[in-house]
Amino acid sequence: MNDLTPTYRFAPAFQAPTGSAIRELFKYLAQPGMISFAGGYPATGFFDQANLQLAADRALRESPVDCLQYAATEGLPLLREQLTALMARRGAQVDVADLLVTTGSQQGLDLLIKVLLSPGDQVLVERPTYPAALQALRLAGMQVHSAATDAQGLDTDALAERLAGLPHGAIRLLYCVPTFANPTGACLSLERRLALLALAARHDFLIIEDDPYGALRFAGSELPSLLALSEQVEGARGRVVHLSSLSKVVAPGLRIGWLIAPPAVFTRCVIAKQTVDLCTSPWAQRIGALYLQEGALERALPGLAQGYGAKCQRMLEGLSGLQEVLEVSPPAGGMFIWGRCRHGVDAATLLQRAIKQNVLFVPGSAFYAQEADASSIRLSFAAPSLEQIDEGLLRLGRAFG
Ligand code: PMP
Repeated sequence: MNDLTPTYRFAPAFQAPTGSAIRELFKYLAQPGMISFAGGYPATGFFDQANLQLAADRALRESPVDCLQYAATEGLPLLREQLTALMARRGAQVDVADLLVTTGSQQGLDLLIKVLLSPGDQVLVERPTYPAALQALRLAGMQVHSAATDAQGLDTDALAERLAGLPHGAIRLLYCVPTFANPTGACLSLERRLALLALAARHDFLIIEDDPYGALRFAGSELPSLLALSEQVEGARGRVVHLSSLSKVVAPGLRIGWLIAPPAVFTRCVIAKQTVDLCTSPWAQRIGALYLQEGALERALPGLAQGYGAKCQRMLEGLSGLQEVLEVSPPAGGMFIWGRCRHGVDAATLLQRAIKQNVLFVPGSAFYAQEADASSIRLSFAAPSLEQIDEGLLRLGRAFG
């Protein structure tokens, strides 16, 4: 008799895929009393539940059919208008027609990879970078190279030198998080933003500017996005695709992000999205739109920035007690502090000791396209309370031994 066991044949990228290193850590969250500095989760206490409840009630009461029916792939007109207005408040004048609502900004990145790249294309990311971007690029078969960064973000001088040594157009695209990067928290200086845009024009590549954290600034003064600046730099116009999200400032559970792209890219992303999810949940879009229209986000933002600033400050204070063993860079916004263990301590080994002490962080190796710095670590101050930050750092100190 034939063997009737099914044989599964997988696509090349999924023959032996590796999942997210950060998601692997989730299983430890169930350990009683665990304090996590691992995920980039917003603080649950900062969710604006009352205003979201009002928006949700209104959404279903006033427009039940719009909430419950399929909607246009481009997104709900009211939400697109509200997000365009939000972009204007952030200093970027955007046409509603260029803004696509996505199911989280993660989907925006996936759509862009689909429509802009072919397997084997060379792309650049920051060193270190956001792991889910790395994963998406790798699964799509890209050759991912990393560009050096320092406390001010991408080192544009080093990048200029590197690009000068490559054939024109060799790099198709650069993915970056210029404002409060994940994982480093670094913010790219104005001078470097302009230099990066000039490089994109000179070497003919596109920039994906991923900006989920820019609104969470708690120190220093605001900087224009690459998208806004691209209007000012000769040849840079139309070279920046901007991604952003309500996840970090409202709630990741809404799964609302957006993508701003030049028309030729935009129309292709819409077609790509049709086969992914037809449209982002109209119900969630309506809630997000009403929340924004009510002005609730604008009212909440100062408190969010202040709240995350206080948590960051508390973590930096605690970390000053660990400076013999851990060197850190203070961020001016976002959710992360990036550190390097001194004396060659290996972060993966430290993590095992930390888990025994009931505290979690992400070892830095998850964030590198190649040649990981095994002594680096990412700590998020966003989700734990101030007391948990104090206690978690005491535990981390004990893990260092
Ligand atoms: N980009 C970066 C840099 C992120 O840190 C995250 C979330 N951790 C995302 C994108 C994805 O966010 P969203 O919930 O909007 O899909």
